[in-house]
Amino acid sequence: MNTLDVMLERNKTFAAQQLAAGTLMPSLPHAVPYLKAIIIGCADMRVDPADVLALEPGEALVLRNIGGRVTPVLVEELRLLGRIGQLDQAIPGGGGEFHLIVLQHTDCGITRLVRDTPLLSHYFQIEERELEAKSIADAHLAVVIDVAMLRAVPALPASWLLSGLVYDVSTGLLEVVVPPAPIR
Ligand SMILES: [Zn+2]
Repeated sequence: MNTLDVMLERNKTFAAQQLAAGTLMPSLPHAVPYLKAIIIGCADMRVDPADVLALEPGEALVLRNIGGRVTPVLVEELRLLGRIGQLDQAIPGGGGEFHLIVLQHTDCGITRLVRDTPLLSHYFQIEERELEAKSIADAHLAVVIDVAMLRAVPALPASWLLSGLVYDVSTGLLEVVVPPAPIR
């Protein structure tokens, strides 16, 4: 079986289990799930929030990109989510309080792009000379920088909690670098 065949088989198992457990969501859940988070994470296959945070279906909305960084594209996605939330009470903006989490990790592939300044400056939509302020090579500092950037996004509700985590790929453990606090 090829990769897709294996995945389709797993999907059948997933669908059967969810159906049996009554946990399928043909529409967005209006009951507040046990956990309620928006997670900004890295696309790296080792750092899937569903795995490392043991998320159940419906517990978190996950946005992943290279590095789990706050970029103009990511901010735009958050704005769109806020608008969807206004239209549909089950998502951000209308669905009550979310915990917004920035999740980056050690040994991130973005650190290997550190000399590829044209690519990175385009990614962050900044000048190459401003890249140093993004702390590409240090996930702990980058999390602090990105949490600070999110605090300055007016579209995000001030009362939501915001925190920053770094996942250590060698231990499997998370470190809370920026403890939870209201966005503003
Ligand atoms: Zn990464």
